[in-house]
Amino acid sequence: MSHAAPAHKRILLKLSGEALMGDDSFGINRATIVRMVEEIAEVTRLGVQVAVVIGGGNIFRGVAGGSVGMDRATADYMGMLATVMNALALADAMDKQGLVARVMSAIAIEQVVEPYVRPKALQYLEEGKVVVFAAGTGNPFFTTDTAAALRGAEIGAELVLKATKVDGVYTADPQKDPSATRYTKLSFDEAMSRNLGIMDATAFALCRDQKLPVKVFSIIKHGALKRVVMGEDEGTLVYA
Ligand code: UDP
Repeated sequence: MSHAAPAHKRILLKLSGEALMGDDSFGINRATIVRMVEEIAEVTRLGVQVAVVIGGGNIFRGVAGGSVGMDRATADYMGMLATVMNALALADAMDKQGLVARVMSAIAIEQVVEPYVRPKALQYLEEGKVVVFAAGTGNPFFTTDTAAALRGAEIGAELVLKATKVDGVYTADPQKDPSATRYTKLSFDEAMSRNLGIMDATAFALCRDQKLPVKVFSIIKHGALKRVVMGEDEGTLVYA
């Protein structure tokens, strides 16, 4: 048994909607959520404060056809509402698995979830509750990656963890090119000049300006989240 302390005290975990889908083509896969919550529970037991920004792509995919030709801002508000559904599902699974979770929405829907209030979010984190940030930034034309950068900076997270299906950033697509190697770390400038497409440009610029490092890691690989939190060689670190 290891007695090492975690390398980070407060983290912001960005989960895309796709992460909740499992192998389904859209929607929420319960078993996938349960597994993910187990990984999150493990790091909270280490005393790490965890905030989550959840995406909405998995739900939006189911209605994307209907949004063709739609006003962009309207479609984006639908996308933000999709993240609220995911947040509710995630928080429910957390409660069932013994974590105390609080959902905070960037869009006022107070009958459903409480609004985002920064001091309250900080208080919950100090109390060891997992805070799930829903509805992105609350503004159209942004992404939940940008919400992750924004909330990460606001709550003073030491690290933004971007969960993907691949265990880091590779020199080429590892599924197509077996000689591709994983970057252990690289600077924001390197990532931008190599066009690695880790996050959208707005999210990236915000993290770089705020010197908020981003770790790209696999949410599927068992124990990877814990390894990241323990500061072990897992995923890819993008640093300022
Ligand atoms: N969205 C938005 N503003 C935000 C965050 C999200 O308008 O601040 C909308 C946008 O339409 C986006 C959708 O919500 O496509 C779902 O978010 P995202 O694509 O980031 O989810 P993910 O791909 O991570 O599942």
